Amino acid sequence: MSEKVIVITGASSGIGAACAKLLATKNNKIVLAARRKKRLQKIATEIQQENGSAIAVQTDVTDQAQVQELAKKAVSEYGRIDVWINNAGLMPRSEFIKGRIEEWDKMIDVNIKGTLYGIAAVLPIMRKQKSGQIINLASVAGHAISIGSGVYSATKFAVRAISEGLRQEEAAAKSNIRVTVISPGAVATELTEHVKDPETKAQLDQFYKDYAIGADRIANTIAFAIDAPEDTTMNEIVIRPTIQK
Ligand code: NDP
Repeated sequence: MSEKVIVITGASSGIGAACAKLLATKNNKIVLAARRKKRLQKIATEIQQENGSAIAVQTDVTDQAQVQELAKKAVSEYGRIDVWINNAGLMPRSEFIKGRIEEWDKMIDVNIKGTLYGIAAVLPIMRKQKSGQIINLASVAGHAISIGSGVYSATKFAVRAISEGLRQEEAAAKSNIRVTVISPGAVATELTEHVKDPETKAQLDQFYKDYAIGADRIANTIAFAIDAPEDTTMNEIVIRPTIQK
């Protein structure tokens, strides 16, 4: 199939790890990035043991220099970057009155700035190649706001706005760079583990228990978007558990 070089941020767990494992079985070369180096290395080793190709690059997406270094390492190892998946994300939800400002900062840094740093690192490379695909993880929370989701939703609305701006610019430049947004509903991952506000955590844990689908479902959808013909782009895919209201 594709045999592409694919960089995935947030590849140490959840959707990113599921994508890495699935896309490696399709003969793609995978560059796994996140902060937890041991987790990344374990996934890379598993892929290699199945005769796939993968490297692990410890990266904090809130550090622009590290994201630039990630792109450099991908190119020095594999010669190019065909797909860059800005997947790293955090969702420590809470109501505004709780004043959890550090968590707001973190969400803005990882979800928005991390995505922007990814775009900044890979866009010149893809422009030179005259091809590529940038896939950004938004959310159904980037379409609708609920109590406690204000800041998280704001970051995911931002991801969609950034993606649409990028899409228009790359279309106008005829750069052959595809921009895709993936907006999942509830997916069973580690995302809710970082919710520290007790009330919100209890509500979310119950919601995810009742509704969440597996991360493999999102990985399949991302593989589908990558395998679309090069002259065609899935600009946004919203994918929910069938029973999620
Ligand atoms: P996980 O918590 O399982 O994965 C999040 C990943 O992001 C981890 O690999 C984590 O790795 C990484 N990450 C967090 N902070 C940083 C950082 N500063 N630098 C680099 N990597 C970082 O959650 P999901 O798999 O669910 O989340 C993936 C994406 O999907 C997120 O953008 C999320 O918002 C989005 N999403 C998830 C939904 C869900 O219900 N699960 C629904 C809609 C969207 P590490 O800690 O090792 O750095």
